[in-house]
Amino acid sequence: MFRSKLTKVVALLVVLVMALGSTVHAATPEYIICLECETPCYVFEFEDGKIKEALCQVCGNDDPEAFVLPEEAEDISP
Ligand SMILES: [Zn+2]
Repeated sequence: MFRSKLTKVVALLVVLVMALGSTVHAATPEYIICLECETPCYVFEFEDGKIKEALCQVCGNDDPEAFVLPEEAEDISP
């Protein structure tokens, strides 16, 4: 009896963690764009809606200020 109840609690927790995880994932962009060479970069850390750390593997740019999100880049490029 106790064991099956525990299983249900664990299952509920897993669902909760997955829901939280997908929320966090949705807020993080799939990639960011390097302003130096306009290349999409996948090596970055995203926190509180901002680029925290980034590294462009094409030109070596590692200044978070020199990267933009894809939606921001659309405004810049013609
Ligand atoms: Zn670059």
